[in-house]
Amino acid sequence: MADRVLRGSRLGAISYETEYAAEPAPRHFVKFRCERDHEFTVPFSDEAELPATWECRLDGTIAKAVDGPEPETKKVKPPRTHWDMLIERRSIADLEEVLAERLDVLRARRGGKPSKSA
Ligand SMILES: [Zn+2]
Repeated sequence: MADRVLRGSRLGAISYETEYAAEPAPRHFVKFRCERDHEFTVPFSDEAELPATWECRLDGTIAKAVDGPEPETKKVKPPRTHWDMLIERRSIADLEEVLAERLDVLRARRGGKPSKSA
């Protein structure tokens, strides 16, 4: 019974909404531009909080709102490199010494004379 009712009324084919109710919610378009100069607009409801960035539809990079505020840059610590960690443990003078030692080892292996260094 219920099936027949559903079949008889094709959803989406006929709108039962009045003209007034069908009026779209107020919205505006925000223009975004990515690093590669792709520009596109995204519709937002007037009530929506507007994002400062949007994923570029073409390359997936972060696009900034053209007329929007600068996106908040989160203070992210740059990742520590091996060099950063090394320099925390050793001074440049220490490293020079280690390097000289290693070079001596390598030269010795090749049959050269070890260099005298301080
Ligand atoms: Zn892009």
